[in-house]
Amino acid sequence: MDLNEASALGVFSCELCEMSSPYSFYGQKPPNTRAIVLLEECYGMKDPFSPEREKFLVLGSKCCLCSKTVCVGTDCSLFYTKRFCLPCVRDHLHQFPEQIQNELLRKKSVQKTSSA
Ligand SMILES: [Zn+2]
Ligand SMILES: [Zn+2]
Repeated sequence: MDLNEASALGVFSCELCEMSSPYSFYGQKPPNTRAIVLLEECYGMKDPFSPEREKFLVLGSKCCLCSKTVCVGTDCSLFYTKRFCLPCVRDHLHQFPEQIQNELLRKKSVQKTSSA
């Protein structure tokens, strides 16, 4: 069963981390789904771990500010009405709601031990 390989459009790779994976669709509407419309244009693939046709994974998307391709991992990007890569979020942090600022600050303190 090599469905994923057969239908892959290319390989998605994140510009911030090493994550890369074949993707089978790009856009707001995953194929073989009826009611699902995503909030953003994104790279995705059918969920290889699910037998259901309508299950899919979102791999990543483009940052709306710098157009970098970033994965949806919380270390690389966040979604707040649009997709932002974390470097852009940090640059514009004061424009984000307090909840997101707090989340990032918490993240920073977690990473401190390795990067400081
Ligand atoms: Zn990433
Ligand atoms: Zn960006």
